[in-house]
Amino acid sequence: MPIKKYYPGNDYDEVDIFGNNAAFLCPVENCGKVFITNTTRMNDGLKECPKCGKSKVTLQAEGGRGTKIVEATIEWD
Ligand SMILES: [Zn+2]
Repeated sequence: MPIKKYYPGNDYDEVDIFGNNAAFLCPVENCGKVFITNTTRMNDGLKECPKCGKSKVTLQAEGGRGTKIVEATIEWD
């Protein structure tokens, strides 16, 4: 399973991280859905691509729920 990590303060083409929010471009071939997630979600910063369900984002927050993102990881099939 490919995996990629992203960090705030970098200028990525396919990911944007802002405070406790992050937007991802799904890397799965023939998907390309843009979706957002944040650290305040009920499931603590976990989200699957709402279109294909084959990629999954995990957010690491600075402190508890709702705090700033320090690392964002996406894995996909
Ligand atoms: Zn997708």
